Amino acid sequence: MNIEIVTIGDELLLGFTIDTNAAHLARELAALGVRIVRRATCGDDASSIQAAVREALQRTGAVITTGGLGPTADDMTKPAIAEIFGQAMVLDPEILTNLQERWRKRFNHELPVSNHQQAMVPLGATILKNNHGSAPGIWLEDADGKWVAMLPGVPREMRGMVADTILPRLRDRLPSDGPVIRSRTLRTANIAESALADRLGELARGVNGLSLAYLPGNDGVDLRLTSWDRDARGTSSALEAAAALVRAKVEPFIYGEGDDDLAAIMLAECAARGATVAVAESCTGGMLGMRLTAVPGSSRTVLGGTIAYANEVKIRELGVPAELIADQGTVSEAVARAMASGVRQRFGSTIGFGITGIAGPDGGTPEKPVGTVWVAVDLAGEVHAVRAILPGDRFEIRWRAAQLALDRLRK
Ligand code: ATP
Ligand code: MG
Repeated sequence: MNIEIVTIGDELLLGFTIDTNAAHLARELAALGVRIVRRATCGDDASSIQAAVREALQRTGAVITTGGLGPTADDMTKPAIAEIFGQAMVLDPEILTNLQERWRKRFNHELPVSNHQQAMVPLGATILKNNHGSAPGIWLEDADGKWVAMLPGVPREMRGMVADTILPRLRDRLPSDGPVIRSRTLRTANIAESALADRLGELARGVNGLSLAYLPGNDGVDLRLTSWDRDARGTSSALEAAAALVRAKVEPFIYGEGDDDLAAIMLAECAARGATVAVAESCTGGMLGMRLTAVPGSSRTVLGGTIAYANEVKIRELGVPAELIADQGTVSEAVARAMASGVRQRFGSTIGFGITGIAGPDGGTPEKPVGTVWVAVDLAGEVHAVRAILPGDRFEIRWRAAQLALDRLRK
């Protein structure tokens, strides 16, 4: 099955909003075996929407749009597409009642007249229930089976509707023996792309006929195996076997699969061992604490931390000896170690992290260039430290430093 995506919104064209909806749709549909053959973006005006949708309908007869379903004047997707199908707009009493109830419950207020537009639907359309927001989606199909599914622009609502209504509908329409695209991602940390390729040797360019992609990011390099067919190479067991081969070569660097988050993995491990964690952060300014506390249930493991940005704070709050800072410099192994031990003792945790580095863009020297980071972990009194020179801009260096710290816990 071939589908085209049309995302709608001036903010997308202007670059103020990144089109994450199209990316999400593409991933979800590919996993189902649906091919996205083209993506288009148009602004909030009826003629552009109509031109884009008409063209897409002519080519594939199957289109998903996002955006422009809201109550404001720039939301004109429904009437524009209804016109293509030659359908009038009619008021849907059920949507209106739902909207009225929602407003009374949530805002303690009557539904404003401008929102009545949200209850207008093309005649003959199927309403796609929106369990995550107010504007329902619309499925409009003609006698020849050409269809357009209109989804809201708000990413969270769009994702919910894709899972709740679009994927099940498409699944029903797919031939049971059609091709499926399967992929499996192994997540690595603390190793460069080229070093991974060296370790993989023969496998570096592909495994058993499956493609292998290297996807470097701030978390590390993801290794993604993809099969495009439903022949012998494309079964899930073939993918499994290929993943096992890759794993065997780079096992020490793999921390997870798919969307796995290193912070969540490390916290689960700490929780399983009854260990608690405290963080002392200089250059990361709380990023490690943020990542740890973003994990649901982290309160059982994370005790707290200190953003010890200024030297005085490192000395006063963490007990880092002033002479150490004077002798070795703030960004040094000794200071990272003292921070890790200081925070562990003060918070009474099993594990203490210390991070100190130069996030840039200024402050680098020939001996300590921008990106130099020292990370120390104090594990019940045993302290390990590591230095890295991390690439990237200020954000990337800080993020990678937090990731490096989490990765140290694996060692
Ligand atoms: P609403 O009922 O909230 O008005 P809508 O369907 O009209 O929903 P829009 O007004 O187009 O949606 O967009 C709502 C929000 O979602 C905006 O903040 C917009 O930037 C964001 N958004 C819209 N389209 C996309 C997209 N393709 N990718 C990411 N974000 C998007
Ligand atoms: Mg919009």
